[in-house]
Amino acid sequence: MSKPHLVVVGGGPAGMAAAGQAACFGMAVTVLDESAALGGQYFRGRQDSKMDGSPGRFLDAHNEVEVLLETLVVDAPMDGQLSIWNEARGVLALPYDALIIATGAYDRPVALPGWTLPGVFTAGGASTLAKAYGVTPGHRLLVAGSGPFLLSVADDLSIKGCQVEVIEATPLSTSIRGLPIIARDPEIMRQTLGFLTRLSARRVRRRYGHIVTSIHGQDRVEAATIQKVDDEWRPVPSSEKTIAVDGVCLGFGFVPQLELAQALECAIDYDEAASEFSIRIDDSLRTSRPRIYAAGEVTGIGGVRGALAEGQLAGLTSVYDAGLINSETYTIERKHMVARLAHIRPVANWLRQAYRPRSGLWSLAESTTMLCRCEDVTLATAEAALANNPPTPYAVKTATRAGMGLCQGRICSPYLIEWLRARHNYRIPRGDRPWRIRPPLRPVPLGDWLAPEVA
Ligand SMILES: Cc1cc2nc3c(=O)[nH]c(=O)nc-3n(C[C@H](O)[C@H](O)[C@H](O)COP(=O)(O)OP(=O)(O)OC[C@H]3O[C@@H](n4cnc5c(N)ncnc54)[C@H](O)[C@@H]3O)c2cc1C
Repeated sequence: MSKPHLVVVGGGPAGMAAAGQAACFGMAVTVLDESAALGGQYFRGRQDSKMDGSPGRFLDAHNEVEVLLETLVVDAPMDGQLSIWNEARGVLALPYDALIIATGAYDRPVALPGWTLPGVFTAGGASTLAKAYGVTPGHRLLVAGSGPFLLSVADDLSIKGCQVEVIEATPLSTSIRGLPIIARDPEIMRQTLGFLTRLSARRVRRRYGHIVTSIHGQDRVEAATIQKVDDEWRPVPSSEKTIAVDGVCLGFGFVPQLELAQALECAIDYDEAASEFSIRIDDSLRTSRPRIYAAGEVTGIGGVRGALAEGQLAGLTSVYDAGLINSETYTIERKHMVARLAHIRPVANWLRQAYRPRSGLWSLAESTTMLCRCEDVTLATAEAALANNPPTPYAVKTATRAGMGLCQGRICSPYLIEWLRARHNYRIPRGDRPWRIRPPLRPVPLGDWLAPEVA
């Protein structure tokens, strides 16, 4: 009898951990990723790392796992089958017995005056450029937004010789209040102290309780205005200060990447307090659909350690459900993974709550600010569309074409949904993400899409 076939979508920390675990217990495993190398966001540019969960370790230990790189999942046309695309072979059918969704997250996009100027980057994008290609967005930089990832990005950029200032919207008192929680987790404590020590040594200034309210420049970034904010991140009048910079990195956290989960019709939940959609999972990482599991950032933003632990558990659960191990083995193996998650989650949950976006963030855009840059939809156009329509994402999309361009709403839809919630009292439906997705999940050549290769 042939081995059951597990397909893992996403070769980041969660996907690699899931694949390794399932392969150890006898599944035939395929991991695929659109990137040219395994590792996902965390290990980008650190391919040779030998640390736990790294691509180097994974490839040394699991040469039986099939790895398909530069390969996109573009559709889930029927139960037990994905459509995948790569440049050499076009669109192909890939059958599976079990599937793990480990597609990670995007940077959370925020529209504010000047955010589309050349020289403005997302914090994750800037970090990726610096780590993977040694390129920085400029020399005098603001790293602005909320959360500890700003420290990591400032570290990546200042080590390259950039003059960096961190603008954190959340007040310093919040970080101080979190110290007892962080102190219970020595790994995070060590990491945070490391960042703070290095940033101080490189004279990286950190301002708390401030936000970038607008970015200026003719053809590219020349300056940015920052302002003090209140607890809801509403700018305090007359506190403006304009700083000459040639690059701005905006990092207001991450949003789970859910297009594939939506195509597979997995239930999606919305965490109102964190302004975050994620795949609904049980405590063994099964989704609402049979034989489909989820791990990592797609189940809620939790960082690399959570992604690794969830990946292991999802892989193990898929093995158990496939009948390759009995319940006794499952219980024993599962125990230490659950314990690891119980150790990691309190800090991750605290960070998610403490640095969550506040309502003032959705009011920074001015009438001429672009909300959808693919289709050139401004705030004024979106507001006008709502004059005769209900305040829903579909109304904005249909009336203005927002989200119908090349990115299909990947960049603008998280912002539009939150803006409607904050400014127009939009209520999010339970169990769903109110932004319909259509295949192909990513742009592919039309000829390949119309003439799929029969596998
Ligand atoms: C831009 C960015 C940079 C980040 N940098 C850091 C950092 O430096 N340090 C840190 O601690 N955290 C960083 N993070 C947070 C990071 O998401 C987690 O720490 C960790 O990488 C999560 O692991 P994951 O496996 O859940 O997701 P990821 O690491 O994001 O892996 C998901 C993988 O799925 C692939 N994928 C997604 N959709 C498809 C598809 N349809 N077809 C094929 N492949 C697909 C992606 O290419 C990606 O490799 C970053 C996040 C982002 C968005």
